[in-house]
Amino acid sequence: MSHTTDRLGRPLQDLRISVTDRCNFRCVYCMPKAVFGPSFAFLPRQELLTFEEIVRVASIFAELGVHKIRLTGGEPLVRKDIEQLVSQLRVITGIDDLAMTTNGSLLTRERAQRLKDAGLMRVTVSLDSLDNDKFQAINDVKFPVKRVIEAIDNAAQVGLAPIKINMVVKRQVNDSDVLPMAEYFRGTGHILRFIEYMDVGTANGWRLDDVVPASEIVARIESKWPLIPIAPKRSGDVARRFRYQDGAGEIGVISSVSQPFCQNCSRARLSPEGQLFLCLFAQTGFDLRRWLRKGHDDSEIRRVIENIWQGRSVRYSEERSEQTVGIPKVEMFRIGG
Ligand code: SAM
Ligand code: SF4
Ligand code: SF4
Repeated sequence: MSHTTDRLGRPLQDLRISVTDRCNFRCVYCMPKAVFGPSFAFLPRQELLTFEEIVRVASIFAELGVHKIRLTGGEPLVRKDIEQLVSQLRVITGIDDLAMTTNGSLLTRERAQRLKDAGLMRVTVSLDSLDNDKFQAINDVKFPVKRVIEAIDNAAQVGLAPIKINMVVKRQVNDSDVLPMAEYFRGTGHILRFIEYMDVGTANGWRLDDVVPASEIVARIESKWPLIPIAPKRSGDVARRFRYQDGAGEIGVISSVSQPFCQNCSRARLSPEGQLFLCLFAQTGFDLRRWLRKGHDDSEIRRVIENIWQGRSVRYSEERSEQTVGIPKVEMFRIGG
């Protein structure tokens, strides 16, 4: 296995695969209803990469050094038979970590077990508030908190662990939930991660004033439960990690806005229709599907991907400014965070 590095010396290690652009939630910061209403045209089925195509691309990425795959979306569990894809990805040589990010709405105990049996190792479940009214207003489809908590329990029961909980923090929307969330998940073994609200895409009307900096989040928690910083598990990890001094577990903060981590960014992203993106904030992607469907062999496609990665110099968050915020960028639900 080779190690492909980009122009800033960053290795290609992680692949995020967005398996669908559809979602059963309309989170206000991701797929606001005003834009993604009933008449919004999602990708037709024939535009999506098939499981065979996804596995083929993933295998090529593995040859180039990728060892970690995360399935995301849209909502990955709305893609039919996703367990089949999981089982095919699990056996790719070189893949030692296979995870999924989900809103939890479809993660019944049976589904969790099927995913585990298929070879999924871990899940990250997104949850922005424990307050039912607030959570329903954020997901904007009236989905109750209780069922996401059940999903987390289901994942834990079948061993899709350690479970991470993603909380996007938006000022005056759910920042008052930081402490209740920390309190709830302390001692559970789940890792709560606070994510700074980001200027992904163009649909969510992002403003810097809505961002609660990670330092503020850490300070709030620290004032109640002292924290000790801990080292990243491995290079390419984007969360800053802390453990509670009293032994109640671990939290993380993802400070994409206030303290960017582009220097360590080893992630490639594949959209549902096979576009390769080199950054969460990319304006354009590279059409890998065209190569897959035009009869090129794996070594040619491998060379193409290698060249693209070797030419990568993007570091959007380190260069973020008033000017970059409004430029057209790929939407989060297409490349999955
Ligand atoms: N639907 C799945 C879910 O919500 O977990 C997977 C896809 S979702 C796009 C992946 C993650 O991105 C979620 O944890 C979500 O909260 C986060 N996210 C979406 N929009 C965001 C934004 N503007 N800033 C920060 N995180 C965001
Ligand atoms: Fe759907 Fe996830 Fe986006 Fe919410 S954050 S709208 S659950 S894709
Ligand atoms: Fe990676 Fe782009 Fe995020 Fe920087 S802004 S960490 S390059 S995805």
